Amino acid sequence: MLSMSNLHPPFSDEHEQLRQSIRGFIERELAPQAAQWEQDEWFPDEVFGKVAAQGLLGLKYPSEYGGQGGDYLHESVLCEEMARIGSGGTAAGLGAHTNIATPPIWKFGTDEQKQRYLVPAIAGERIGALGITEPGAGSDVASLSTRAERVDGGFVVNGEKTYITNGVRAHFIVTAVKTTADGGHHGISFLIVDRGEGVFSSALHKLGWHASDTATIAFSDVFVPEQNLLGELNEGFKLIMANFQWERLAMALGAVGAMTVAWERTAQFAREREAFGRRLSGHQAIRHKLADMATSVYACRCVTYDALRRFVAGEEPLKEVTMAKLLTQRACFELMDECLQIHGGAGYMQEYWVERAARDARLGPIGGGTDEIMREILGRALAL
Ligand SMILES: Cc1cc2nc3c(=O)[nH]c(=O)nc-3n(C[C@H](O)[C@H](O)[C@H](O)COP(=O)(O)OP(=O)(O)OC[C@H]3O[C@@H](n4cnc5c(N)ncnc54)[C@H](O)[C@@H]3O)c2cc1C
Repeated sequence: MLSMSNLHPPFSDEHEQLRQSIRGFIERELAPQAAQWEQDEWFPDEVFGKVAAQGLLGLKYPSEYGGQGGDYLHESVLCEEMARIGSGGTAAGLGAHTNIATPPIWKFGTDEQKQRYLVPAIAGERIGALGITEPGAGSDVASLSTRAERVDGGFVVNGEKTYITNGVRAHFIVTAVKTTADGGHHGISFLIVDRGEGVFSSALHKLGWHASDTATIAFSDVFVPEQNLLGELNEGFKLIMANFQWERLAMALGAVGAMTVAWERTAQFAREREAFGRRLSGHQAIRHKLADMATSVYACRCVTYDALRRFVAGEEPLKEVTMAKLLTQRACFELMDECLQIHGGAGYMQEYWVERAARDARLGPIGGGTDEIMREILGRALAL
């Protein structure tokens, strides 16, 4: 077994108990349905309620809003364990809700907004999405063009978002809009847009993450009341930046979790499958490949945990988080490709977990900031 213990800093006994309980819940309640949900290109909304009933939609949120009163380390355990669902799409839908849609409300929302959105989100009664990307603005966030015009009592929104996780099912979309005519970072604001009149979603079909509803969302003369302005007017870029570190750490943790499971399963397969009169792992080429893969999992874990440790200590570990995101997402995809190769023809078949895992892992170097953007950030951080 690869199971190098997770029980080292930053995690404690308490986190390890949480890990075992989350793992049991996922293996019992979610993993058995994963293949069906992938085939349906949808997992039921009720999954949010089921996960909420375990306290898992509010691990890091205060108990006054229905959360568990934990912190980012508790949430980190969940990020790693979600790989055991065996459906990147289901993990993505749950993860978008807890790791990118609700954090801005928690950090920047008024108490009234928290009561209206965070409380039902933690209870799994209302589902959230984060809408930043547009057809003409992805990596270059500052060039977004969805407009919010001021009117009596609020704003009227027109524009289009795309590639939005939970984009079909979300009850509310934490949406980046332009609130001034000038370009650049300064005229961006955030509005919490309720699904309703003028909000149109259309599902997109993807290489992986099949169970998640990624969508284009068009806003056509959508009225958003003043009390749904999140944070300060024209200061939305700060809000985008505020959660990027956590989003990228969550992705790195997810990759570490997925790599760990994939290595364990592939090593087991190599111990059992025979070719030319011996186990696959009895062939040096395969044994060395598995040794390299274990080294990669360990390196990704160490770099990610180091960034996490700094993050929870209150440092601003821009460089370390960026490196963890860059390293783990590409390494995860490469490891999945090696796992698939070791499975031979079986690896290409839908009934084997690895076919899906390899497709799901391809998103990592694109989502949450591409590899190229990570390198640009590092270029600046390293004064290049
Ligand atoms: C499945 C999925 C789910 C997603 N979920 C969400 C979501 O919930 N909410 C949301 O807002 N967004 C979401 N996204 C969008 C995601 O964040 C963007 O796809 C990503 O940021 C890249 O933007 P883009 O697709 O517009 O590519 P572009 O920015 O157009 O980039 C195209 C290519 O050019 C490269 N490139 C761009 N700029 C530079 C540069 N300066 N130097 C070198 N290379 C560069 C990029 O790295 C990339 O390789 C999701 C995307 C996917 C695929």
